[in-house]
Amino acid sequence: MTYFKTFWTLLFIVKGYFAMEPIILIHGGAGDISDSRVKGKFDGVKIAVVAGHKILEQGGSALDAVEAAVVSMENDENFNAGYGSVLNLRGEVAMEASIMRGEDLNVGAVTLVKDFSHPISIAHKVLTDSPHSFLGGEGAKLFALEKGFTTVPPESLISENAKKALEEFLQHGEFGRTEIGMKNEAGVGTVGAVAIDKHGHIAVATSTGGMNGKAVGRIGDTPLIGSGTYADDNVGGVSTTGHGESILKYCLAHSIIKLMENGTDAATATREAVTGMTDRLKNTAGAITLSKSGDVGIFFSSKRMSWAYIKSNKIYYGIEHNQILEEDYISK
Ligand code: ASP
Repeated sequence: MTYFKTFWTLLFIVKGYFAMEPIILIHGGAGDISDSRVKGKFDGVKIAVVAGHKILEQGGSALDAVEAAVVSMENDENFNAGYGSVLNLRGEVAMEASIMRGEDLNVGAVTLVKDFSHPISIAHKVLTDSPHSFLGGEGAKLFALEKGFTTVPPESLISENAKKALEEFLQHGEFGRTEIGMKNEAGVGTVGAVAIDKHGHIAVATSTGGMNGKAVGRIGDTPLIGSGTYADDNVGGVSTTGHGESILKYCLAHSIIKLMENGTDAATATREAVTGMTDRLKNTAGAITLSKSGDVGIFFSSKRMSWAYIKSNKIYYGIEHNQILEEDYISK
């Protein structure tokens, strides 16, 4: 009995010694983001990455960390998720989100959510509290109400920028031919987060308002597991952004996971899959990736993509191609 106890105590100590360094990597959307939007994006991704990292520092799970980072960006009109989401052709917000836990491949996703502030939190509840994986529209609303979420007036999620973007789209736009925010000030973007906690568990969350001027009822890549989001503790995690119809045809998130499964490193896998999608389907995208050992992959074929991560007491961030800015991160 004592031997048995000593064995477990030792195992515990050894496990603690080799605990993973927690990492969180986020993006704030890929697209033709205007210069006037860059500062708002940088501020927003820095706040969100810190919100997620705080949870990891306190020993919280990767799943809670990615949710917290995404919630932060859903509150921020600089991003196309939650408040500030782009509008469909009827001038409505219709949001989508997905979340995945790499430990057991469990998932939760929602789509066509119109009157809740945080679709990602409803998706998280689908993961933990529903026998199903993906709920849409009326059903997602009924589930959310049952789980204690409160509705907000749909108009309260609409920003002035989103209204302007739809007006411009109706005058000049062609769905799918332009990147979000092109030629106007509404350069917003889908948001996503990938994290590894100190136990080495990986989780990924992605949330969006979709594409400006989308058809009523259009569902994109973001809530689709394998396209917008994928997490597997045995391999890594990926969140994507960009042209939804292309990302879903290419199963972009899972394409990156597949390459890593076959031995490709996170950075190469991310670059190869995003480039492969763009070559094949002639539309742009971006992705963020963490491997199970904490290697980072960030790549986009769009003009810009905002991203940030915290690793070894530094915040790294950027928005242009080949740009890596860094600041010290002192946790408070
Ligand atoms: N992928 C999103 C969609 O098509 C848009 C984005 O990433 O900005 O719904």
